[in-house]
Amino acid sequence: MEYVDRVIPCVNCGKEFIFSSRDQQYYEQKGFKNAPKRCRECRALLKRERQFVPDGNGGKTELFKATCADCGGPAYVPFKPTGIKPVYCKDCFVASKIRAAEPQTEPPSQAWAT
Ligand SMILES: [Zn+2]
Ligand SMILES: [Zn+2]
Repeated sequence: MEYVDRVIPCVNCGKEFIFSSRDQQYYEQKGFKNAPKRCRECRALLKRERQFVPDGNGGKTELFKATCADCGGPAYVPFKPTGIKPVYCKDCFVASKIRAAEPQTEPPSQAWAT
């Protein structure tokens, strides 16, 4: 079969990208039936938006990208952020745990001393 470069509009950004004959050959070899719907940049972006971590049972858990409510940096969480509850990145989450574990500034009760 002859492969001809195809121009496909990206469903994500609307920019046209070339699905080259070589790419088509590669897709065919991989057994992919459908042509890509997104341009290279959008596909790369999508890959970064989705992250997976081993779930300990041989499977993988998808991580969702959110914005850390504390430092504003990217946070990856194993649940879909609702937008209602704040989401923290790993660093801020750990920091908040350490803060919570710190002894209270109030002096302990002296009841036992008297
Ligand atoms: Zn695109
Ligand atoms: Zn943070």
